[in-house]
Amino acid sequence: MNKKYEYSDTTQLSPHFNAKEFRCKCGKEHEFMISNELIEKLEKLYAALNCSKIIVTSGFRCTAHDKTVGGSGTGQHTLGNAADICCYGQDGQPISSKVVCCKAQDIGFRGIANITAAYQYTHVDVRPNGKWYGDEVHGNNTVTDDFYKYFGGEDMKGIDVSVHNGNIDWGKVKADGIDFAILRAGYGRLASQKDEKFEQNYAGAKAVGLPIGAYWYSYAMTPEEAELEADVFLSVIKGKQFEMPVYFDLEEKKQFDLGKEQVSAIMRAFLKKVENAGYFVGLYGSASSLTTHTADDIKSRYTIWLAHWVDQTNYSGAYGIWQHSENGKVAGINGNVDLDICYKDFPTVIKGKGLNGWGKTPTPVPNVPDTGVTVTVQIGKDSYKGTLKKV
Ligand SMILES: [Zn+2]
Ligand SMILES: [Zn+2]
Repeated sequence: MNKKYEYSDTTQLSPHFNAKEFRCKCGKEHEFMISNELIEKLEKLYAALNCSKIIVTSGFRCTAHDKTVGGSGTGQHTLGNAADICCYGQDGQPISSKVVCCKAQDIGFRGIANITAAYQYTHVDVRPNGKWYGDEVHGNNTVTDDFYKYFGGEDMKGIDVSVHNGNIDWGKVKADGIDFAILRAGYGRLASQKDEKFEQNYAGAKAVGLPIGAYWYSYAMTPEEAELEADVFLSVIKGKQFEMPVYFDLEEKKQFDLGKEQVSAIMRAFLKKVENAGYFVGLYGSASSLTTHTADDIKSRYTIWLAHWVDQTNYSGAYGIWQHSENGKVAGINGNVDLDICYKDFPTVIKGKGLNGWGKTPTPVPNVPDTGVTVTVQIGKDSYKGTLKKV
């Protein structure tokens, strides 16, 4: 049972939400209920979207009021489990409900819906059972299992390459329908371990206008070694611009043998350092390593590049890119190449925020708060092309 509040109650429930915002708006000054979990998740949403404010347009509703606004009189609002909200970004503008729905899905709201055709208002709830992902513009039915796919349109097809792929004809790659590439920048702790084809691949992909990201292959056994790897990685990519995220790739058996706690500490050390230098950084990992060797805080904070070479992945966590094959054939590349699908419009977000070499001076700042570089997702239909591989 959710907690009850007197109509006059003005308890500050969390840093950004006061009880009075959830009062019924029917005009009768009666008591109301609010779920603690709803408030917790709204705070997470606030942080994840880097909001300047969230306006609650409708919180608790009595039966009569719920019916007045078109509800059944028994819905989640009448139980104190729901809020209709408008989220505002740091620029003072409403954040698209498409983005809010995707983030709400990541955070684990069980009821989520876009409310208006203008995509400004979003319903979120913490119903006790089941899941409802709706779009009230199209009726009150569940419309999707995944808002990223529902709002994202078609996805970007990509490849990831290293020196092992030899000399690449990037013009042919692009003409074959590839929309982005992730380049191996190097490995380990020494500057001499820069990937031998990194500069060539960077120049070649840039020349044909392909969005690119980069990754660093780790051998670190301690967080300190991971920081040294981050330093080398940052020196290798310095002065370059990436439309896609840059990734930490940890997959050595001797590293996994250290156990989940130490592996997670190594990951955090690298990711934090690269993020603080002004990069949209993510983690590459197999479905099993993400499940068994990666702490939850890492998976919720950093974008995930999932490696799972199957037709349909059963990995249940969130991910922005899926590497679905290591046996791809793409024009312009001899032999097999890793194939990827991207579900998020990273270029818009990264360029918009001036990360990855696009504008902001990448000065390492030791005390950047966790919300300093926010991993948000902008769904820009125009940036999606290519063919959707159903997952
Ligand atoms: Zn009422
Ligand atoms: Zn609602």
